[in-house]
Amino acid sequence: MLQLSVSGSVIKKKLLTNMSHALLQSVKLAPKWGFRYLSGNPIGFIGLGNMGSNMAANLMKKGHSLVVYDINSAATEAAGKLGAKIATSPAEVAAQVDKVITMLPANQHVKDCYTGSGGVIESAKAGTILIDSSTVDPAVSKQVAEAASAKGLTFLDAPVSGGVPAAVAGTLTFMVGGSAEKCKEIEPVLLGMGGRVVHCGDVGAGEAAKICNNMLLGISMIGVAEAMNLGVKLGLDAKLLASIFNTSTGRCWSNEVYNPMPGVVENSPASRNYEGGFGTALMTKDLGLSQLAAAQVSAATPLGSLSHQIYRLLCTNGYGNKDFSAVLQFLREANDYQSNTKGNQ
Ligand code: NAD
Repeated sequence: MLQLSVSGSVIKKKLLTNMSHALLQSVKLAPKWGFRYLSGNPIGFIGLGNMGSNMAANLMKKGHSLVVYDINSAATEAAGKLGAKIATSPAEVAAQVDKVITMLPANQHVKDCYTGSGGVIESAKAGTILIDSSTVDPAVSKQVAEAASAKGLTFLDAPVSGGVPAAVAGTLTFMVGGSAEKCKEIEPVLLGMGGRVVHCGDVGAGEAAKICNNMLLGISMIGVAEAMNLGVKLGLDAKLLASIFNTSTGRCWSNEVYNPMPGVVENSPASRNYEGGFGTALMTKDLGLSQLAAAQVSAATPLGSLSHQIYRLLCTNGYGNKDFSAVLQFLREANDYQSNTKGNQ
């Protein structure tokens, strides 16, 4: 810029000031115009569902260019409208990028996407970093990491907590397993979608942390639902009871932020007929993963096991797509059944 062939230092200074101003303005306006000013190398993103679509949108808002793939063409088209380049297979994504992020439903989807025919590992260039944010069995992460390493690729498991609201707000917590050095390297990308990145240990450690957290969450939600249901049947006001828990030893996230009784927490899934939020089917899957892992290392998890069975019952009773706090509604139905059959017991 200092080589500008304009004579007179005042003119040069003014020109430079105007150019800097225009650059700053374009940086501010760039997201509105839809072009990328921080692009660097494009990033691959595969799996644009409830979580992935919002995570990908946040990356694009932060100025990253994306190459995306999903088996659902409506999902890729929506990302395309935000500026993403659409690929027709995981392999086609991987061939164009040096980082791939996946956000897929469960174990088999992750295995197929990475190691299957037309998968990521088939076409990724040596040195590519593969980041799986799906919640899966830590053993699956280790299998994929081995296959990746054989081709000179790095695999990190990086599941998230915070759910859809945090995916929308860009405040997810990432629990990362794998090389600490590579975790540091990808931290700026993860912070484009989240507020905290925690390195947990070797490959699989991120998934281990995630399934332990979700086992605790599943158990605590059933506990809050039972206590709220009992208290209300004993004649207590639901809001009063929840406020007592919040300043007593029963305090926990499931009560305070996500209370399962409708009307206690404004805008919680319970106050929206258990719509949105974290589906019971996904919670059931995560509890299944925790029980599988517990069996592999001989850890006693009796409440985790019972909670898994309870959420499975919810799924077979039509609650699979409802938020997992619907366990309270399920208990209330059990009450109704008991009171209707009292004379027969
Ligand atoms: P989702 O079902 O809404 O999205 C999954 C997406 O993957 C869908 O768009 C689907 O079409 C796509 N897909 C499936 N198979 C594919 C394949 N072979 N190739 C490409 N795309 C494929 O699920 P979600 O709620 O976004 O959750 C994704 C993952 O994140 C799950 O493992 C879930 O347990 C975890 N998670 C979810 C939440 C939540 O609140 N929803 C919170 C934390 C973690």
